[in-house]
Amino acid sequence: MTSHLAKASVAEEFGQRAARAELLAGQSASAREALTFAAILSRAQAKVATEIERIALTGRLESDVERLIPLHKALISEAADHGPSALADEARKRANDDPATARTRLLVYWNGDSDDYLSRALLQPYAEVLRARQVAPDRVHKRGHCPFCGGAAMISARKPTGDSDSGLRMLRCALCALQWNVNRIHCPSCFEEDPYKLPQFRSDVHANVCIEACDTCRRYLKSLDLTQDARPIPEIDDLLSLSMDLWAIDEGYTRIEPGLAGI
Ligand SMILES: [Zn+2]
Ligand SMILES: [Zn+2]
Repeated sequence: MTSHLAKASVAEEFGQRAARAELLAGQSASAREALTFAAILSRAQAKVATEIERIALTGRLESDVERLIPLHKALISEAADHGPSALADEARKRANDDPATARTRLLVYWNGDSDDYLSRALLQPYAEVLRARQVAPDRVHKRGHCPFCGGAAMISARKPTGDSDSGLRMLRCALCALQWNVNRIHCPSCFEEDPYKLPQFRSDVHANVCIEACDTCRRYLKSLDLTQDARPIPEIDDLLSLSMDLWAIDEGYTRIEPGLAGI
């Protein structure tokens, strides 16, 4: 058994997300479907990560991609069998991609900022292993994005600190899962700083969740308050409050980066 002080491997971290999703799926009827799929996806990603942790990587996807593609088959078929219908259709289509097409799709996602759920899911284990090894990925780094890999912020979490009641505001990268501290209140998408243009919305049902919206670019980030309870894993616990995303979308806001449910 490994000591709890040892840093978890990347595969173990995906396993912890799967376990958290399985636990919550048993507790929430409304989010069960999304959490069950998140568990299946995280387990499949854990297996990919186990394989990737055995190989040498350059951080240049163009060089590393040939060795990744054969590892992706099982994850694509899990998405085809268990994903929400739009994702399942996409996965069925991509299951038959020849290696050149599969390669191109991954590189398009990696080199741009396209909204491609499946490519993101396929490349997360790779990006997380690069981060664990401190091998810099060859991606464009835009302002407001992850300082390690350039990925977008999927969610924000307020974590307890010894000397501050409000806690540390950590943004979590959708690709490599780095959490970076951003204390200044601003929109991570367009950098608006005027508090009157940055409304926050809460719901009685999900007391630890806040929708941090921006009326300048009409985008929003979901924020979880973990100062009272540190057990949540942000990208998994995010799924419990999907109703707040649906509400925000209804109000005309777009999430900066979709969560695991694809919205
Ligand atoms: Zn990142
Ligand atoms: Zn904005």
